[in-house]
Amino acid sequence: MPICHGPVAVVGAGGVGSVTAWWLARCGAQVVWIAPQGTGPQRGSLAALGVLMGHCSRRLRGRSWRLRRASIALWRQWLPLLDPNSIPQQWGLMVLCHQPDDVEQLQALARQRQGEGCPLAWRTRDQLLNHWPALAATDLQGGLWSPQDGQLDPGPLLATLAMGAERLGVQRWPAQVTGLKPSGQDWRLQLQASDPDCPTTLSVSAVVLCPGLGAGPLLAALDPAIQLNWPMSSVLGQAAELHCPMLPPQGLPGPVVWRGVHLIPRPQRHHLWIGATVEPGDRSQARCLDQMLQLDGAAPGWLQEAQVVRRWQGLRARPIGRPAPLLATLAPGLLLTSGHYRNGILLAPATAAWTAQQLGFPAPEECSGQSSIRDGN
Ligand SMILES: Cc1cc2nc3c(=O)[nH]c(=O)nc-3n(C[C@H](O)[C@H](O)[C@H](O)COP(=O)(O)OP(=O)(O)OC[C@H]3O[C@@H](n4cnc5c(N)ncnc54)[C@H](O)[C@@H]3O)c2cc1C
Repeated sequence: MPICHGPVAVVGAGGVGSVTAWWLARCGAQVVWIAPQGTGPQRGSLAALGVLMGHCSRRLRGRSWRLRRASIALWRQWLPLLDPNSIPQQWGLMVLCHQPDDVEQLQALARQRQGEGCPLAWRTRDQLLNHWPALAATDLQGGLWSPQDGQLDPGPLLATLAMGAERLGVQRWPAQVTGLKPSGQDWRLQLQASDPDCPTTLSVSAVVLCPGLGAGPLLAALDPAIQLNWPMSSVLGQAAELHCPMLPPQGLPGPVVWRGVHLIPRPQRHHLWIGATVEPGDRSQARCLDQMLQLDGAAPGWLQEAQVVRRWQGLRARPIGRPAPLLATLAPGLLLTSGHYRNGILLAPATAAWTAQQLGFPAPEECSGQSSIRDGN
């Protein structure tokens, strides 16, 4: 039985808020979605490359692994419930290995994951180079192939989730939440919007905060007893679209992780996305972009010759002193799901499933039997 007696407000329209609003509505909740329009200079989810590094994570156990594994399973079950044709997606991820010391560890990881039902496989250097000469590098040792990981284009994903939420009757207000207070059994939100039709206050029985870095100012406005301390820092990421006329005709085996950098084939011939830098703070440095574009001095000829056709950047929210992401019940009916750092697109479904469980909404029948998220910790 749901523990909330009335509407649930979901705050934020990045990957986490969008999946949460859609999923809660699917579970039967009456959802009011506070989703500011425009992305501002701090674009989070729209800057993401949408890489889903789930099974290939090096985490062997613990919360991070459970959330990743559940998210991969949920993405594969939930995407068909959306309009899958409108979300460009690629399944299968190759993590290249250039360190001789890493080979045994990655092979052991593949064996362990296979034992857990996750189909990871090791590919030798020769197997890779026979098919994809573009991967040539003198120190290439081999690669970890993860067929159930992949990549989703975040822009179309968010647009499709918004349409899906609307079809499920979610009421969406293009507003900023400027205040939040308990009021009896309910929560009272103060809203600021340029749209005169938008209400200035809302009363709801539960609030799910998915505001990324916006959590800090929102929590600061709360009653000090509830406020607690959930500090986050911003970590900037730069990414680019490349035109690579010298890329060998076989291309890449799908999305590739090459010395920690993601290379994602685009539908347009010879085009790739490359990302992302990890730059503490909110200022980008040209040096970091250059280093990434050159794979820190190890780029093959075809990548050295690539032209940047478009570049962008965004901020990630990284929890301070706690592991990412923050999934917490701050007070009865007040949930915080933020601080997803480098994996907000990947972890959005496990986050939404956790939220629905906390609020007492069971998964709808057609989705029952799905990976359950036992706890946020
Ligand atoms: C370059 C780059 C590449 C990345 N690549 C990947 C990747 O490949 N895979 C992956 O999984 N992750 C990736 N990430 C990380 C991912 O983008 C983040 O983890 C994710 O965007 C977090 O989503 P979110 O919904 O929590 O936050 P955001 O996307 O930041 O959304 C927050 C939302 O809350 C709203 N908001 C804030 N304050 C308020 C308020 N007071 N009232 C109302 N609304 C408010 C904002 O307007 C926004 O809509 C990448 C990030 C960057 C920068």
